[in-house]
Amino acid sequence: MDFHWSAEQSAFRDAVVAFARRELADDQRTRDKQATFDRARWSACGAFGIQGLPFPEAYGGGGQDILTTVLAMEALGYGSRDNGLLFALAAQMWSVQMPIFRHGTDAQRARWLPALCSGALIGAHAMSEPGSGSDAFALQTTATRDGDHYVLRGAKTWVSEAPVADLFLVFATLDRSKGALGITGFLVEAGTPGLHVGQPIDKMGLRTSPMAELVLDEVRVPVENRLGREGRAVPIFNDSMEWERGLILASTIGSLERLLEESVAYCRQRRQYGQSIGAFQAVAHRLADIKVRLEAGRLLLYKAAWAKEHAQDAAMAAAIAKLYVSESLVTSCLHALQVRGGYGFTAEYEVERELRDAVGSTLYSGTSEIQRNLIARGLGLGMAELSA
Ligand SMILES: Cc1cc2nc3c(=O)[nH]c(=O)nc-3n(C[C@H](O)[C@H](O)[C@H](O)COP(=O)(O)OP(=O)(O)OC[C@H]3O[C@@H](n4cnc5c(N)ncnc54)[C@H](O)[C@@H]3O)c2cc1C
Repeated sequence: MDFHWSAEQSAFRDAVVAFARRELADDQRTRDKQATFDRARWSACGAFGIQGLPFPEAYGGGGQDILTTVLAMEALGYGSRDNGLLFALAAQMWSVQMPIFRHGTDAQRARWLPALCSGALIGAHAMSEPGSGSDAFALQTTATRDGDHYVLRGAKTWVSEAPVADLFLVFATLDRSKGALGITGFLVEAGTPGLHVGQPIDKMGLRTSPMAELVLDEVRVPVENRLGREGRAVPIFNDSMEWERGLILASTIGSLERLLEESVAYCRQRRQYGQSIGAFQAVAHRLADIKVRLEAGRLLLYKAAWAKEHAQDAAMAAAIAKLYVSESLVTSCLHALQVRGGYGFTAEYEVERELRDAVGSTLYSGTSEIQRNLIARGLGLGMAELSA
């Protein structure tokens, strides 16, 4: 076991931090307040090579291994405060690009991946519905074959990047009576007649990642845009969720490291009772605990990345990483806020925003309860039918 990064990987990490500080560093407070998604930043990330990190050069990617990809995403979180943008980048990478890369036809890969890697296109993943979240395979959106097309009818919700997306990976059922075996994936282009994107949903955190509902009103999708075989989308979805839940939180490791450094600096400088507050053990221990959670979460995430890199069964490692990193992130943000006293409660210090952004991580890609269920299932316990 080797815990060191190579000189090349370390240099790459530094280059990503420098890129993030240079290009993704404007007024995050205002952008958060106004819930602004900035396409220019998305393009800049594409030009730098973020969206393409783990994909082959033949598809416009960077050809990086999975651990280096995770290191780069962590560096992005360290260098940029735009957690919404970083969430959006990772969501596209693991839940749109990866399923196309692993389960798409040659034609689908050639058509979509280069533009998704370059940042020219934005992709969104549409599984959740108003009546089916955790129980994802209870979806009600239908697809009906009509000649060389399918006709999609239904509604999706919580679709991250829907207001700005060019391409949607939509899951629908060809036959509700078949349950999970009816579910099929489709690549649906924005602008297709009958595809309506709702108004951006106002939300607590990750406000620079816009989210909306989709209504599919007789949307005709050509057969060549079906992802995988008919009724075979459950393995595709489960596969992409394993990538996503294991790796989507890489940038939060970088964010937490930055927040810890800022917290240490604050506690050394802030004085009460004639001494720096960091000299109070009750304060210092909060920061020591953040450090422990940061390092533990980092190792769990690297282990999940290593398992994906080596094509090992990563179900358990991914669920543990997702559960631990998300929950400890929320706890650590609360503690970083607490040591700042009243200042932590103000928007100016931006810890309250970090906390708001962190809360979503215990919900998306499967809630904490679902991660615990998956872990229990890995132990041979719990419900067999759990999916997301
Ligand atoms: C920031 C954010 C971004 C998202 N982006 C997307 C996206 O791009 N595409 C997309 O399709 N979806 C997206 N989602 C939706 C997300 O996948 C769902 O919110 C999540 O799966 C939970 O579904 P739900 O909200 O319907 O809650 P429910 O499933 O209704 O759950 C409500 C509560 O019941 C608990 N619960 C449910 N079932 C069980 C069980 N079997 N055992 C124990 N507890 C259970 C849950 O843990 C939760 O606490 C996003 C969500 C968020 C917050």
